[in-house]
Amino acid sequence: MTHGDRRGSIADCFDPGRMLADLDRLRAFGATGTGVVRPALSSVDVQSRDWLASRYRDAGLEAVTDRCGNVFGCDAVRPSAILIGSHADTQVKGGWLDGALGVIYGLEIARAAKASGRTGRIGVDAVAWNDEEGRFTHFTGSRAYAGKLSIGEYDTAVDADGIRLADAVVAAGYGDLPLRPVSPSRHVAYLEGHIEQGPLLETTGLQLAAVDGIVGAKEYLVTYHGEANHAGTAPMALRHDAVRAMIAFVSRLEERFAALADDHIVWTFGRITVEPNAPSIVPAAASISVQFRSSRPAMLERFAAAVHQTVDEAGGVAGCAKPDLAQILDYVPTPMDLHLTHILHDAAQTIAPGRSRIMSSGAGHDAQFMAPLMPTGMLFVPSIGGISHSFDEDTARGDLVAGCRALALAVDRLLTEIDPV
Ligand SMILES: [Zn+2]
Repeated sequence: MTHGDRRGSIADCFDPGRMLADLDRLRAFGATGTGVVRPALSSVDVQSRDWLASRYRDAGLEAVTDRCGNVFGCDAVRPSAILIGSHADTQVKGGWLDGALGVIYGLEIARAAKASGRTGRIGVDAVAWNDEEGRFTHFTGSRAYAGKLSIGEYDTAVDADGIRLADAVVAAGYGDLPLRPVSPSRHVAYLEGHIEQGPLLETTGLQLAAVDGIVGAKEYLVTYHGEANHAGTAPMALRHDAVRAMIAFVSRLEERFAALADDHIVWTFGRITVEPNAPSIVPAAASISVQFRSSRPAMLERFAAAVHQTVDEAGGVAGCAKPDLAQILDYVPTPMDLHLTHILHDAAQTIAPGRSRIMSSGAGHDAQFMAPLMPTGMLFVPSIGGISHSFDEDTARGDLVAGCRALALAVDRLLTEIDPV
């Protein structure tokens, strides 16, 4: 079957101009130069969610907002549905497509499904998750839907300025809304379109990718305690220098990581803090983040063991005891549903013959919290220059359209299998 050979299919009712116009409209909420500043639960984020709810209603869907600000567009006449979406919040200085693209794909495909006039038991719901980018806590919205956001976490999560999630929810006007008004039991599958956020598709001249898994991640915080003193008068032998101890630790760990690494694991020492952070004071404290990501659980465990071993051996350097070790993140690698990956890849090959592939995602996505609940699949379009989380983030318009077309075609084929009419 090729695209367009079935009257009344979702792919036939897909309207590229309407999809791009909505994507541009969503961009306008928080537009700053070529980028977007629309952090979760900010006033401009709330305005964008009101607009999304109105677009869902315009499409004949029931708009349902929950307490975290997730907005669903539900095909209320069907008892169950395929859920399609992504997150509508951005980084503090974000790009215009990260998340927004998948949100508008969901809107367009749910709208096309309504317009197609297809009958059957299974509809298409759209969703715009909130706070995927972790203003308050990672994947706040999708974890709330999945029942993975504890009340304790909801009550204690704060942003970088100390604003509580619970207070931001009230300020947004969501405080009285239910936490989980839409049950995952309604949804038979989850699909998410997203920009790749890396260079692989662009550098190989490809247009689309079906995602077969999302990498796992571990992150640690290693903290050394020293003693502040005068940088000119304190003799070296008597110092307790937290930074020199930390540098010795990280160079030893870097050697171990390099020796253990395969071609796919990536690691980052992304944040260093020093107290009091002054050129003429022996540092009293120093901490460094150690994060690594891989799709192979065994590789993650080997790196984790290297962190523990290096900490255990680290005492006595530069007058410091061995450092404190705290684990910050622990995400297991999440495979996507194999059958959905093949449906997505076949659809991508139909839309972009010879220009699609299967790949894993090096970035985390809301989809990783759907995968334990229902068959889940993702589709990537290229990122120009491999850039994201930046005002320079962009994708060619033709690629944006191809991604939505392929996702629509995949939904048609999935519905043909699970809900023939
Ligand atoms: Zn994203």
